[in-house]
Amino acid sequence: MTPPVLQLKEVSMVYVKKAFLQKICVEAVTKVSLELRDNEILALVGETGCGKSTLGRIALGLLRPTSGKVLHLGTDIWDGNSRKSRFIGQIVHQDSYAALNPVRTVYQTLRAPLVRYGTKHKDVDEEIRKLLEFVGVTPPDYFLNKYPYHLSGGMRQRIVFARSIIPKPKFIVADEPISMIDPSLRLSILDLMMRLNEEFGTAFLYITHDLASARYLARRGRIAVMYLGEIVEMGNLQEVFEKAKHPYFQALLSVAPIPDPRAARKIRPLKLKNVELPKAGELPSGCRFHTRCPYARKICTEEPPRLREVEKDHWVACHLIEEVPKWTLALER
Ligand code: SF4
Repeated sequence: MTPPVLQLKEVSMVYVKKAFLQKICVEAVTKVSLELRDNEILALVGETGCGKSTLGRIALGLLRPTSGKVLHLGTDIWDGNSRKSRFIGQIVHQDSYAALNPVRTVYQTLRAPLVRYGTKHKDVDEEIRKLLEFVGVTPPDYFLNKYPYHLSGGMRQRIVFARSIIPKPKFIVADEPISMIDPSLRLSILDLMMRLNEEFGTAFLYITHDLASARYLARRGRIAVMYLGEIVEMGNLQEVFEKAKHPYFQALLSVAPIPDPRAARKIRPLKLKNVELPKAGELPSGCRFHTRCPYARKICTEEPPRLREVEKDHWVACHLIEEVPKWTLALER
């Protein structure tokens, strides 16, 4: 059996910050284990600052975790002090303007990696036109000599995606790729990612805080929900959305906008004990959500809950899963 394109095993990341002659340790990611299967779309959702982007950089090998293993196609990518495997993943950031060189035209931006990855000089122009057609930057000839500042956010992000597929990556970490794009164009970027997944078999780790876009893009894939550096719920996306079990994810769903006003009226926001997130560097003991969770009991303050499989391909980290009221979006509708 082919190993998953990406495996994270008990990965942790601790940043050490110096302030006023003191060292402050900030645990950004704690013992996260997950895998990205071949041709899969996995949505990684959570609040800003929960460690999603750090995990994305670790997944690609751009950051070395403090502990744990990162495997690409079954091979541990870290050996001693250096990376030993070649890059099989690419990253697409939210800021497409920063991702492109402002003094390079679209043609120059795509030409350099094509040549670097083995396209013959005589074929380069043709390949650039094909890439632009594929990502919807048409007519290609009109855009070849444009600079990033000539393009809209959506067009720039399409160029970034075109560049990212040149090395034929096994997976792409898409870190909030639509958050800086005009809402009217967001869907077209998600559709482009879906086409890349279907036509080239590229797997995606889609990092976002937007539940609606996660649900749209990963509708046939999986979702992992992160809270303060830990995965608290994970599994088949449809199952997790319809039968959310972790109080944190239930709270997120209870305030997510729903297009049907009648259904929206039936859903009551889950009242948290405290709306404030704990400070970085002062993580709560036991379950990290206990300072906000309305169902917390003594055990929650003492022991960290383990992520366990509660139904087929549905994993949850909560001590009181049998007592937390059921959440069924399907019933509400
Ligand atoms: Fe809430 Fe306790 Fe479950 Fe944590 S373990 S989510 S505090 S009920």
